[in-house]
Amino acid sequence: MNNIHRFIQKRFHLRTRHAHPFGIVLDIDGVLFRGRNLLPGVKEAFNLITDKKGNFVVPTVFLTNGTNSSEKSKAEQLSDQLGFRIPPENVLMSHSPLRMFTDLHDKQVLVVGQKKAMSIARGMGFKKVTTIDQLVKWFPHLDCTDFSRKTVDPRDTEVFRKRFRPIEAIVMLGEPLKWETSLQLLLDCVLTHGTMDSMTSPLVAGGRPDHIPIVACNVDLVWMADVASQLPRIGHGVFIHVLDSLYAELTKNHLQYRAVLGKPTEVSYLHAAHKIQRQARAMDLDDVKYLYVIGDNPMSDVLGARLFDRYLRHGGVGRFDHLDLEAFEKNDGEKPRVRTRNVVERCISILVETGVYQENCHMNGVVKPVSALMDNLSKNEQLKLNQVAYFE
Ligand SMILES: [Mg+2]
Repeated sequence: MNNIHRFIQKRFHLRTRHAHPFGIVLDIDGVLFRGRNLLPGVKEAFNLITDKKGNFVVPTVFLTNGTNSSEKSKAEQLSDQLGFRIPPENVLMSHSPLRMFTDLHDKQVLVVGQKKAMSIARGMGFKKVTTIDQLVKWFPHLDCTDFSRKTVDPRDTEVFRKRFRPIEAIVMLGEPLKWETSLQLLLDCVLTHGTMDSMTSPLVAGGRPDHIPIVACNVDLVWMADVASQLPRIGHGVFIHVLDSLYAELTKNHLQYRAVLGKPTEVSYLHAAHKIQRQARAMDLDDVKYLYVIGDNPMSDVLGARLFDRYLRHGGVGRFDHLDLEAFEKNDGEKPRVRTRNVVERCISILVETGVYQENCHMNGVVKPVSALMDNLSKNEQLKLNQVAYFE
């Protein structure tokens, strides 16, 4: 599919002939924008799914793996760029499902990300948050890639550490700014079991494989910046990859993630489906049974849509059974409750060529999942990955 407009134009006309409501899950970068520039056809596509006042007439959510802003500020940014109001509840970031991890909300968590990491974590419900910047201040002698810190005597900075509380879990929101600092302090945190002082497990093969819980958001290896850069940029997936490689070199074990959030994991699509169902209820529409996911990344948007479709076809049974998935329905703060699980029937992917993926482009090869999620698909499904599921 060349761009978003071609698909929505076609599908919208079908809607006028067929009564069953459908929902649209939209990726942002590479589908609507390249950097800050609006892509061709986007305005026309939105004209088809909004009324004259700019209200959606088709339930629509924006699902992005971006992590460096809150849903509210992303919605404000989108509203400015698109020229009509996007409600914050229509925007889902890769960290949005963290609201569901209520068992970690009262624990002391180390949050990794950029400037807004602290406020984003608090917005997700975490009450005791430590940042990498705070660890640098409290443990300057540990962050000693910078030569000036090599001379710091820990006794001189002991007073700073009075505010430190042992870390009980790690939440990785997105790629940090100073990778060497974050890699070092994260390794220290995991290897000391959150105490930042002494090793709880020897750095040899056969060392203790367990560690404090880690939740990671956004495993995209690459992303597209603006039109000035034709090359994909490395992202949080690469950072996670590097961290795991270092940990494996030191311990001969791999890091164990309690959960990975954002596309392509099913839990983010389930969250999006719930938001769509909520909108359909507000619009007085019947339950949405079909979701169309429009994205530019085969290994993120499309893989996720196929995994979620498989999850739906298996009756809502899958790898997330250990999580409280009903939290989406219980904790969205709105009444009356809407049902999502066992209501949505199919999730269909639409791959556009305005971002990471372009037909016959060799760079597509670098867009691979960092996790083993591909293994969840059959060989046949893997072969079909780069083919759109919707045909004109
Ligand atoms: Mg994209």
